[in-house]
Amino acid sequence: LESLDVEAIREEFPILEREFDGQQVVYLDNAATTQTPDPVVDAMSDYYRESNANVHRGIHHLSQEASIAYEEAHDRVAEFIGADGREEIVFTKNTTESENLIAYSWGLNELGPGDEIVLTEMEHHASLVTWQQIAKRTGANVEYIRVDETGRLDMDHARDLIGDDTALVSAVHVSNTLGTVNPVGELTALAHEHGALSFIDGAQAVPNRPVDVSEIDADFYAFSGHKMAGPTGIGVLYGKQSLLEELEPYLYGGGMIRKVTFEDSTWGELPWKFEPGTPPIAEAVGLHAAIDWLEDLGMERVQAHEEELAAYAYDQLAAEGDVEIYGPEGGADRGGLVSFNLDGVHAHDLTSILNDHTVAVRAGDHCTQPLHDKLGVPASTRASFYVYNTREEIDKLIDALDDARALFA
Ligand code: PMP
Repeated sequence: LESLDVEAIREEFPILEREFDGQQVVYLDNAATTQTPDPVVDAMSDYYRESNANVHRGIHHLSQEASIAYEEAHDRVAEFIGADGREEIVFTKNTTESENLIAYSWGLNELGPGDEIVLTEMEHHASLVTWQQIAKRTGANVEYIRVDETGRLDMDHARDLIGDDTALVSAVHVSNTLGTVNPVGELTALAHEHGALSFIDGAQAVPNRPVDVSEIDADFYAFSGHKMAGPTGIGVLYGKQSLLEELEPYLYGGGMIRKVTFEDSTWGELPWKFEPGTPPIAEAVGLHAAIDWLEDLGMERVQAHEEELAAYAYDQLAAEGDVEIYGPEGGADRGGLVSFNLDGVHAHDLTSILNDHTVAVRAGDHCTQPLHDKLGVPASTRASFYVYNTREEIDKLIDALDDARALFA
């Protein structure tokens, strides 16, 4: 596998040339949001300059052009993740809204006392908080698959928990805190053995590795455009067509209906049934361009680059001796991020020192508060990588640790 031409890639990201106090930015906050390459920005600005109109097949030329671009973006996403077609691809605002869509349209209608929702201890709040609240409203129970001391799911515990009362298994594909790559195909198979559905949160997986939803056999799968070189304001909900056909819409309004009378309404075709109102059209064009751009790089090569950087960062941090790292060692079951703490230094202080060196990382609980409680720390510092990052940038992070020790430890 030929490695990525990082120098050439960086030329498409003018933002990476930004300097603060004379120092070039080192952007290692990609799990929060990735940067957007020129071809994606150009696609969106071309859309606004040349094709902007509302969709839903207006009669005039511009609306027809915008509608085709919007619809084709669904086709492109379907092809990218191995879905059967645009009927299975609903555009939302982000991963969070994709979770809520299924929680409201399926969870509120289908769950009741005695039903069990099985999550993992490493869920992002996007799924954890959502299912917790749906459980409160429906009388269902939430159970959590344990995370073991290596930062992996305890699959024996998963087999114990998932049973005939289980209605849903919702699991994160790649943990945004531990970096763990979870066996989501196995979890889905366990859910199906017991007649339960599976929802996979792929926010940290789709940007970084080839993902095939049909191979995983997930019933629902969610991710966000802004973490994969695309724009903010657009997310994806994949759902099996047979299931989406059965579900009630979560939002109501124009553009989703077949027939409306003063008394009642019926719903239009998939996926539009779940996309009322004016959708994120320019963002869909941007997401389409981002997928083209990523596939030009090759998702296998993207994955290899990130695994290499994560393994390097892990080893460099582990060699420091006073750094605690969370999650599995580098290798095939770690995605492109490393969360850690420096002994005696709060993650926020460390992150602020790193910012003095223009190294951009994130401090906090990364929307996994219960997991941090379990780890016994209030916060961690997370460095997360993308296709434009280099070993030299990780070295800058490591060099800056000395300053933090001098000031705080
Ligand atoms: N799930 C995971 C694993 C994430 O990393 C994130 C983003 N931090 C989300 C869900 C939520 O994504 P968004 O903010 O785009 O809704």
